[in-house]
Amino acid sequence: MKADGTIVARKLCKSFGSHQVLRGIDLTVAAGEISCIIGPSGSGKSTLLRCVNGLETVDRGVLRVNGEDFGYVEKDDAYHAVSPQRLAEQRSRVGMVFQQFNLFPNMTAESNVMSGPVLVKKVDRKVARERAQELLAQVGLAGCGHKYPAQLSGGQQQRVAIARALAMDPSIMLFDEPTSALDPELVGEVLAVMRDLAHHGMTMLLVTHEMAFARDVADEVLFMDEGVAVERGDAREVLANPREKRTQEFLERVL
Ligand code: ADP
Ligand code: MG
Repeated sequence: MKADGTIVARKLCKSFGSHQVLRGIDLTVAAGEISCIIGPSGSGKSTLLRCVNGLETVDRGVLRVNGEDFGYVEKDDAYHAVSPQRLAEQRSRVGMVFQQFNLFPNMTAESNVMSGPVLVKKVDRKVARERAQELLAQVGLAGCGHKYPAQLSGGQQQRVAIARALAMDPSIMLFDEPTSALDPELVGEVLAVMRDLAHHGMTMLLVTHEMAFARDVADEVLFMDEGVAVERGDAREVLANPREKRTQEFLERVL
């Protein structure tokens, strides 16, 4: 099996102090698959995503991303962090989009998109600029490269954030509630860009409350509650006929 664009978690655990936030999560995302995490606030969804892109380190369990142990090597029954350089390399292959866009406010849209390739990958500025223009066009923002985040709507800012993540040529894209901070009329344009990415074979792991989007686009849905993967399965099946009581109750509340 080609390992690029794959995520495998086995019995993944993560605590903050004495608070166990992830309690043995199992997750598999195959190359090109779209997997959607749903669940109540505080259930550990963001923490799971942050582990998958190296913003958090895992305590126990297996985390393989793109076919490699991610962020650690196991030796003598203990985890050892990989070198910062290796971690940066692994992280550069996993793009992440946050609820709050997280654009650099003092940089134009184009500079935001160029920043990763130029600063991290040492790509030539001219090459990076051309690629940024292509990516901005891909997310429907051709001609907006010179604008600053404050001059863009929330939906446009989020699309710049997606273009910025794509600029690193990731094999996996993570989205943490990418439309939750948007006015309702701006949600559709961001989902359209995500749908387009999904159709082009990008592996995607996303946390969302957009159940219609999950049903249309996702292959798998994972329902998390209190750090546990309560139910996982075919997206349409889980959303239409949840087996677990906790999933049923959650879906009744949000649908
Ligand atoms: P979700 O995204 O499902 O709402 P989170 O992963 O953000 O859940 O948080 C799960 C739990 O972990 C919450 O109780 C939160 O307070 C706690 N938590 C998250 N990040 C940290 C942190 N850096 N330090 C301490 N506790 C944290
Ligand atoms: Mg969250």
